Amino acid sequence: MRLVFVGPPGAGKGTQAKVVCQRFGVPQVSTGDMLRAAKAEGKLPAELVAKMSAGGLVPDEVVIGLIDGRTLEADCADGFLLDGFPRTSPQAEALDSLLSSRRQSLDAAIALQVPFDLLMERAILRRTDKRTGQIYHLKYKPPPPDAELETRVDDQEDVVRHRLATYEKMTAELLPYYEARGMLKRVDGVGDVDEVSKRIFAALSAS
Ligand code: AMP
Repeated sequence: MRLVFVGPPGAGKGTQAKVVCQRFGVPQVSTGDMLRAAKAEGKLPAELVAKMSAGGLVPDEVVIGLIDGRTLEADCADGFLLDGFPRTSPQAEALDSLLSSRRQSLDAAIALQVPFDLLMERAILRRTDKRTGQIYHLKYKPPPPDAELETRVDDQEDVVRHRLATYEKMTAELLPYYEARGMLKRVDGVGDVDEVSKRIFAALSAS
């Protein structure tokens, strides 16, 4: 199963990606996580760190390179779920040619759809426990009292607005790209985690 997950920041992409990956036994490949890991190790050039912190996109060739290398690793042999990639149509094209050079193809692109106001609330109140990596939400999934919470720098309100605007531009390119190829599955992302997961599995089995 080779999947692409398209969803705005705060749509629950990360959470749903974990459920889907567990079901299909494939790894979740997140360019955001890979970039944050590179940044934490001090391996990300300063100009890219600045772009990320401001909620902008890093250049296509950087993320394409990351995906190229990561999807060749052994755990991706039976498939993968791409989370946060592609974000532009050049990235989508690069992914297609990368896969076809390996005689592979994507099975589906899942677009998680959530209204703007809810996205703002979800992202702004999102917190991570820095010891466990577990993601909480101050309103919908309160953390335990002993959690050591941190807020992603790009979850600050003005940055979230910018990330959402960037996302709007991106979907304006990407959704038609996958729609034209008959691969797009639009899934309503409003509801509890199980409900949304069921919709995703239903959409995938309808293909
Ligand atoms: P995410 O965790 O997917 O929201 O990604 C966090 C940040 O990493 C984004 O705001 C971008 O700065 C950068 N990033 C992640 N994936 C990509 C991508 N496919 N193309 C460009 N920038 C990306």
